[in-house]
Amino acid sequence: MRPSTLGEALELLHYHGDEARPLAGGQSLVPMMNLRMARPSMLVDLNVVPELSGIALQSDFLRVGAMTRQAVILDDAQVRQHAPLVVVALKHVGHFQTRSRGTIGGSLAHADPSAELALAMVTLNARLRLQSVNGERVIEAHEFFIDAMTTAIGAGEIITEIMIPRSPPDAKVVFREYARREGDFAIVSTAVQRSAGESSLLVAVGGVASVPFFCSELSRRFSRSGFDTAIATDLARAELERIEPMSDLNADGAYRRHVASIFLLESLREVFA
Ligand SMILES: Cc1cc2nc3c(=O)[nH]c(=O)nc-3n(C[C@H](O)[C@H](O)[C@H](O)COP(=O)(O)OP(=O)(O)OC[C@H]3O[C@@H](n4cnc5c(N)ncnc54)[C@H](O)[C@@H]3O)c2cc1C
Repeated sequence: MRPSTLGEALELLHYHGDEARPLAGGQSLVPMMNLRMARPSMLVDLNVVPELSGIALQSDFLRVGAMTRQAVILDDAQVRQHAPLVVVALKHVGHFQTRSRGTIGGSLAHADPSAELALAMVTLNARLRLQSVNGERVIEAHEFFIDAMTTAIGAGEIITEIMIPRSPPDAKVVFREYARREGDFAIVSTAVQRSAGESSLLVAVGGVASVPFFCSELSRRFSRSGFDTAIATDLARAELERIEPMSDLNADGAYRRHVASIFLLESLREVFA
């Protein structure tokens, strides 16, 4: 079905229940259907619902509609200025072709443990607006991701927009990723944003655990003080010990932790340089 308003889309999802799935860019859902890992009997195509697309600057955040294409976000001057971490993260998401169809909402709803956008949203403490026929609610990114491919989206709900806090004007950002080839999903990724002027530091790790992990101790310890390699090494190790790492054909958990600790130290050195 191809609803042309948000209200119609929500009614369809409500009426058809578990049988229906929203279709965004199709870059994850269609491959899953090809592999018979998803077998929805109805697709509710969100592609012509105008309310769901677009980027708008608000007083303290950027409002990004869930159906905004990844390529559009990557090229947007407001995002470059006010959320530079999103831009550096997006450069690692798939390829030009997948980004031209793939959406921010689709990526977050799919919740791959290695998804760069999920990591960027947890790092920046973005909020997601979810809506169903019963109303709407706002949830913080770190509460939205529950497990690999599992989110807080309830029955009949869709993500309508993402609210990304504006980064301080002097923000320095570093996004590191290890993948087998350019455009592949990350085996390990890290995101760091520092503002000297606002004494803030945000640090998070992706691809190691089943959901992005915000490094609260590292972020707190170095937000107001100068960088110290020895303390950072110990804190990074302690943070990563708290993570239950994934093991798969690409890398075991110990290797993921090791690469993440190197990325974290390199990135911290860079933002403090
Ligand atoms: C070759 C290739 C390489 C890729 N590499 C990467 C990569 O390196 N990093 C990465 O992060 N991703 C990668 N991807 C995935 C890509 O980023 C997808 O765009 C993304 O995962 C899904 O976005 P989509 O808009 O295509 O959503 P869809 O595939 O249409 O939907 C994905 C899921 O989200 C649900 N959904 C969609 N929109 C909403 C909404 N608004 N509210 C609630 N549920 C919704 C759908 O029902 C479905 O379950 C790759 C894909 C391909 C094909």
